[in-house]
Amino acid sequence: MTLPPPTSHQDWQALAARLTPDGRPFIGGRRMEAHNERRFDIVNPADGRTVASPPRCGAVEIGAAVAAARAAADGGVWSDLPATRRADILRALARAIETHGTELALLDTLQMGLPVSLAMDDIGLAARKLREAAAGAERLQGAVLPGAPSSLALNLRVPQGVVGAITPWNFPLFVALGKIGPALATGNTVVLKPSELAPLACLRLADLAQEAGLPPGVLNVVPGLGAEAGQALASHRDVDMLSFTGSTATGRLLMHASADTNLKALHLELGGKSPQVVLDDCGDLDALAQALADGFMFNGGQLCVAGSRLIIARELAAELTHRVAEKTARWRLGHPLDPATTLGPLASAAQCARVQRFIDRAEAAGLAAHRSPCGGGAGMPAPVVFADVPPDAEIAQEEVFGPVAAATPFDSDDEAVRLANGTRYGLVATVWCSDPARGLAVARRIRAGAVTVNARTGHAPARTVDASLEPFGESGFGAEGGLAGLWAYTRARHLLLNLPG
Ligand code: ADP
Repeated sequence: MTLPPPTSHQDWQALAARLTPDGRPFIGGRRMEAHNERRFDIVNPADGRTVASPPRCGAVEIGAAVAAARAAADGGVWSDLPATRRADILRALARAIETHGTELALLDTLQMGLPVSLAMDDIGLAARKLREAAAGAERLQGAVLPGAPSSLALNLRVPQGVVGAITPWNFPLFVALGKIGPALATGNTVVLKPSELAPLACLRLADLAQEAGLPPGVLNVVPGLGAEAGQALASHRDVDMLSFTGSTATGRLLMHASADTNLKALHLELGGKSPQVVLDDCGDLDALAQALADGFMFNGGQLCVAGSRLIIARELAAELTHRVAEKTARWRLGHPLDPATTLGPLASAAQCARVQRFIDRAEAAGLAAHRSPCGGGAGMPAPVVFADVPPDAEIAQEEVFGPVAAATPFDSDDEAVRLANGTRYGLVATVWCSDPARGLAVARRIRAGAVTVNARTGHAPARTVDASLEPFGESGFGAEGGLAGLWAYTRARHLLLNLPG
């Protein structure tokens, strides 16, 4: 469907009613029937209706997809193309993503409640990410080593081979493209197992990739449950590398699966409990309160880089905590197909209940809650900021994946750094202050893959094309983005050519 985005809730609804999503797996260059009749339902969190019931694929379909990816990798149909040709095809795919943006955004909105205006932005960013990967891979260089004049000694970067990708539901297409882009651009073939909550846009992507010129077998997408299709992919001996974004608990299982089978390389982007540190010289409290609120409210807090811990200089803590809760009201709760909505329901009823249990436990522990004036409802708990949270409290340590922040006061920069580093995670962090030298000194001591001073993670001007992020601690390992993010999908290979003479 190549349509301009509708401008009203009604028109988006009408478009949704006409959509007939295809949930069949895409293997070896075409849609396939699954080998059995079992299915799973994708439920729209906005109204509880079933969006589609894709086949519940398992080891058989994963086996077929890996065989197709292996054949494409071994045959060199993709890896042997010049990098510029691969990049051209990926750029054609980026254009197709934009052309079909309305349909892809609609699918993501229907599957997991991401407000459609944010989903449209997301599709644009996904296409851009793909172009960045294509452009970067065109410029990947090896090295010529010093050696005897009668030889040519080279250090090369070569594809890993078959890359398995397992992705979550929070930004379904965007996160998937964050893996598919660098994997394909560097010459790998891919088997993607998207989240069972939201596989439809990723399946559609495979159709578009085929039309853009990707050879059969290079990108395969298999819908199914984590414990079945996901586990089968993680345990498959012909998968050379597994790239995963999701929970730390599942990341652990994947490490076991790799250890128990073929020691496939792993690339894990796991949970986070990211700190936003506010020093006492931070300046305009009103603008800052909005930035802090936005840091954990985007997508209802369902993002691994949510700035869900507010670590605030003691003299500002009470005032700022209150203001941050007020500022969450900028997020407009409503139906995700209403273009004015910026806060939809959480992705599933189970996720909503889980977040509510975190809130209930924090309240039962006696923590003071500042609630958002926007209230909750429609599958979304009322956003809340907890004040004076002891650093070891559950709400300050565990990833909630909802519109919840925990504020903790500090008395010195040393203590701020200690608190910032005081969880098992280490994904991203922000520091807010007026004195850049002081901000830099604190930022350098925080163990996180990306630390931004006076800017939200991933937002202008913090978002730059070549930024590379590699998590610390139980947030995982393996770089994403930039040159290091491309290298992660390659291996070092030495090649020596001895010249007769
Ligand atoms: P969440 O709780 O946020 O859904 P998960 O880590 O459970 O996070 O899910 C992220 C992805 O991991 C999904 O695609 C899911 O199907 C997959 N997954 C879940 N459990 C397993 C498993 N045991 N093996 C492989 N993949 C899994």
